[in-house]
Amino acid sequence: MSGLDGGRLNIGACSLGGGQSALEKAIDYMGERQAFGTELSAFQALRFEVAEMQTKLEAARSLLWRAANAYDAGDPNTSLLSAMAKLTATDSGFDVANRALQLHGGYGYLTEYGIEKLVRDLRVHQILEGTNEIMRVIISRKSTGVG
Ligand SMILES: Cc1cc2nc3c(=O)[nH]c(=O)nc-3n(C[C@H](O)[C@H](O)[C@H](O)COP(=O)(O)OP(=O)(O)OC[C@H]3O[C@@H](n4cnc5c(N)ncnc54)[C@H](O)[C@@H]3O)c2cc1C
Repeated sequence: MSGLDGGRLNIGACSLGGGQSALEKAIDYMGERQAFGTELSAFQALRFEVAEMQTKLEAARSLLWRAANAYDAGDPNTSLLSAMAKLTATDSGFDVANRALQLHGGYGYLTEYGIEKLVRDLRVHQILEGTNEIMRVIISRKSTGVG
């Protein structure tokens, strides 16, 4: 379990980095692309998307740091926190990359912009190192003492 805890932190960190990269690409693109005579970055609906993406990544980053600190300290809650961090960071990383693809419109689907690869790569993190359903099994078992 200790080896898996470290692996889950690694996968979570990879998702966080991929999601951050996708967000930065989307912000750059929103400043370049014009639709209806204005930059995408001027549309409030899209600015709210960026706000949510940024917030999700920051929440995942904070939980990852907390779990990594617990791992380093040999805290008995490490497995619980690592499962929470893996679940949160991989779901958030994929969701952010997927939203970033949407913000690129049709170009997001093309290989040239690099977003579709991030989406494909981050999708498997919800499966690797124990699926996110199994993360929920671990979290509920450790939280309730049942199962
Ligand atoms: C690209 C890639 C690289 C990999 N690298 C490695 C590696 O280096 N080393 C290694 O050991 N493994 C590796 N794996 C395997 C990976 O860890 C497993 O695929 C993963 O743990 C899921 O197991 P499974 O595929 O047997 O799914 P299954 O156990 O068959 O699960 C199928 C579905 O049922 C769900 N499910 C199963 N049991 C429950 C339950 N009790 N409650 C709720 N839902 C449940 C799962 O969440 C999943 O959605 C890799 C997989 C991939 C895709």
